[in-house]
Amino acid sequence: MNIYDLIILGAGPAGMSASIYASRYKINHIIIGNIFDGSVAKAHLIENWLGEKSIKGTDLMMKFNDHIKDFGTNLIVEDIVEIKEEENVEFGRNVFNIKTNNNKTYRSKSILIALGTKHRKLNIFGEEELLGKGVSYCAVCDGAFFKNKIVAVVGGSNSAAMASIMLSEHADKVYLIYRKKPLRCEPIMTDRIKENKKITILYNTNVTKVLGENRVKSIELDNEYDSSKEIKLDGLFIEAGSVPSASLVKELNVNVNDSGYIIINSNGATNIEGVYAAGDITNGSNGLRQIVTAVSEGAISATSIYKYLKEK
Ligand SMILES: Cc1cc2nc3c(=O)[nH]c(=O)nc-3n(C[C@H](O)[C@H](O)[C@H](O)COP(=O)(O)OP(=O)(O)OC[C@H]3O[C@@H](n4cnc5c(N)ncnc54)[C@H](O)[C@@H]3O)c2cc1C
Repeated sequence: MNIYDLIILGAGPAGMSASIYASRYKINHIIIGNIFDGSVAKAHLIENWLGEKSIKGTDLMMKFNDHIKDFGTNLIVEDIVEIKEEENVEFGRNVFNIKTNNNKTYRSKSILIALGTKHRKLNIFGEEELLGKGVSYCAVCDGAFFKNKIVAVVGGSNSAAMASIMLSEHADKVYLIYRKKPLRCEPIMTDRIKENKKITILYNTNVTKVLGENRVKSIELDNEYDSSKEIKLDGLFIEAGSVPSASLVKELNVNVNDSGYIIINSNGATNIEGVYAAGDITNGSNGLRQIVTAVSEGAISATSIYKYLKEK
């Protein structure tokens, strides 16, 4: 059974960047993940990645993919279902076994966890039942289905702002509903939203229910808008933040903070020998979860892993 020096878990910016550094360090490695399943692919336009004034998230991921392909790196598009550390007598030390949905097991001497985050749910009435029937967590994926319709976006972050702007290109009207005031997106995004005649912001408001039988028909609010607590609409886009995809690493006993993010040191190392982490899933980079920081953490981790493998 082949034992890799490194398996990179996740094919987002953190994993891809780590792979480029690992290739140049000649670390025998593979990546497991899907380039279109991470956060970047859900971004309508990226405007803060150096060298690209404005680029679609999917196009940027394709560029990253082309780059890693140049090194001949094997990108395995499978779902990881289990990560276990096991003693390997033949090898003389513990190895990591990564099981995937295809019933395959990949083994390595070290791992880099770069699994990113998942969307946060509102956990309100109707959200689950009407998912895919007007409720969506991805404006980029589903926005075009709402041509000339009325939609709402929940959230106040950059993602929520970008989703509102993107949706205004298709829909007739977009409500941006945020539980606080002011929005927490970059001021440049606030300006664009305020200038956009199709977008109406509802501050200090929570969505409490999504209503409809086979399709979303309306939402219920905890505050009145236009003398009513109900707004009739066709789609609800939930951009209420994210939670780390760290459930898979529980068995490894990797330390996480109160919010569930993996705790790393300045080398990208976790508390478990041979286990490193990078990108949105960590507590690193002062909580700034962006492409630039994910890429940077990936590079730092790959460099640390190179040193670790050499010492061993
Ligand atoms: C809508 C939106 C807009 C954004 N806009 C911007 C922006 O304009 N600029 C910016 O800098 N940042 C932006 N971000 C943030 C940015 O996308 C993230 O910071 C960045 O993608 C983090 O990279 P990552 O590699 O840590 O995680 P991700 O990019 O999320 O990648 C995670 C990877 O892990 C894989 N994975 C997860 N679970 C499994 C599993 N069980 N099995 C196999 N693979 C798995 C996924 O397939 C994916 O490949 C945006 C995010 C969102 C959601």
